[in-house]
Amino acid sequence: MVERPQGAHAMSTPAMVREILKQAPGDALCDACLAFSCATSLLEMRQITASLREGAEFRNGPTGCASCRRPTTTTVYVIATKCAHCSGPLGDDGLGVVLGGDQFHHTCWQRLLSDEKIRLSRALSRESRRLIERARAVMARPRPEME
Ligand SMILES: [Zn+2]
Ligand SMILES: [Zn+2]
Repeated sequence: MVERPQGAHAMSTPAMVREILKQAPGDALCDACLAFSCATSLLEMRQITASLREGAEFRNGPTGCASCRRPTTTTVYVIATKCAHCSGPLGDDGLGVVLGGDQFHHTCWQRLLSDEKIRLSRALSRESRRLIERARAVMARPRPEME
């Protein structure tokens, strides 16, 4: 019986999956591990990761999960190529500030810092980080086979 992380209702499962993958760029994780860490069904997770991989941010990882080592389909986060604030492209010299997997232009970041809204987004990312840490801790624990 897996307990859903406290406060997980504040974040939808797809949002949580996105965060888990973004917190660990380069870690290819399988649907079973993600489903386990988000306390959701494998079926639901398959649908979530399939739709994530349709976007530019995520793609199929190498066969073999970084967590359970099973040779199966994985999803991996591709480093952002656009600014999380203005959605403008990040050039080679534009790799600005990285925060919780999001990347910003230096100028956009400065603008955000001076914006009162940052207080809200900081509180949110603290909460997200806590959830993600919980989820990853769950993933690291021994567990029964899910497939
Ligand atoms: Zn796995
Ligand atoms: Zn920007």
